[in-house]
Amino acid sequence: MKEYITILGLESSCDDTAASVVRCARAQCADIMSSVVYGQTELHADFGGIVPEIAARAHAEKLDYCVEEALSRADLSLKNIDAIAVTAGPGLIGGVLSGVMCAKGLSAGAKIPLIGVNHLAGHGLTPRLTNQLAYPYLLLLVSGGHCQFLIVRSFDEFTRLGGTIDDAPGEAFDKTARLLGLSQPGGPAVERAAKGANPRAFKFPRPLLDRPGCDMSFSGLKTALRRARDQLVEKNNGLTLTEIGELSAGFQAAVCDVLVEKSRRAMRLFSAEFPTVKPALAVAGGVAANKAIRAGLLAVCEAEGFDFVAPPPEFCTDNAAMIAWVGVERFRAGKFDDSTLSARPRWPLDNHSRPMLGSGKKGTKA
Ligand code: AMP
Ligand code: MG
Repeated sequence: MKEYITILGLESSCDDTAASVVRCARAQCADIMSSVVYGQTELHADFGGIVPEIAARAHAEKLDYCVEEALSRADLSLKNIDAIAVTAGPGLIGGVLSGVMCAKGLSAGAKIPLIGVNHLAGHGLTPRLTNQLAYPYLLLLVSGGHCQFLIVRSFDEFTRLGGTIDDAPGEAFDKTARLLGLSQPGGPAVERAAKGANPRAFKFPRPLLDRPGCDMSFSGLKTALRRARDQLVEKNNGLTLTEIGELSAGFQAAVCDVLVEKSRRAMRLFSAEFPTVKPALAVAGGVAANKAIRAGLLAVCEAEGFDFVAPPPEFCTDNAAMIAWVGVERFRAGKFDDSTLSARPRWPLDNHSRPMLGSGKKGTKA
């Protein structure tokens, strides 16, 4: 058995091109030797959202630079790499394909084993990379494309307790920013606008809180915000800075309340199944960078006796260190892929639970 496992990770499923080298000694914490992320925010800025074809081209252009940079920052070459782990889905298919083709080329050319990784598993296992969290734990994945509660039992065993039946919160933050004339990505812009503003000036709904279970909905909230905005614009021919702040604060508070209350229910389900485990709720995904949401989740964790684990923001958003880490776990278990690895636009983590409603025309997204 080797002393170290060294994995090169690649990520290109959305609008971040990333490569990373993670090294892990047996039974020791992992060392993130490098983590390179090229974001594409400017490329998509004029379009009000991510344009899949532009994203795919940018990934194809940037991936090899990213790999070079990640190896050089780690002061290693391909000779030192034990396996290449690559996001094989779910995501925008052009970007996922760019990453999978790049990884296959490197794997065949340098004769290095290949490991296909589920992007959501990357987010889901990040608390093990950054905080050495032991299985099982509860995870809230809350990002631009996803929102779900998962019991993480092992590196490839996940049980979904509930999730959004329509929009993801990040998507709702982005749409809110567009409606209020704020910049993209919308989450940080809405958070900045909300700072110090009265969250109760406008009344927004807390969807699905009146129903049992852990499912969530955010599209009605977005419609309520649009209606409030339209009424103000009609009356005064525009929005004042105070109104933008209050609308942002009201929206953020509503998202926060829904996530907090649904987290409480998910924690109770987790505790019922694992009464003797020291319980932890971990968060992952870009929305987990929001300070008000973090504070709300921390408070409910304290009330329910759970540890709250929030990885550093740069490992909450898309990155390749999380993909390399899943590579470490799969390498240890002897789970490899070969040149038949395919790119998957949809790839649910939990294959046993029923698909989420409204999960997309082409089937189950997550
Ligand atoms: P991800 O999908 O994990 O790459 O995260 C990107 C999403 O997270 C986007 O929809 C962002 O608007 C959202 N996001 C990033 N930072 C924040 C924040 N501070 N508050 C709320 N949402 C955020
Ligand atoms: Mg992501």
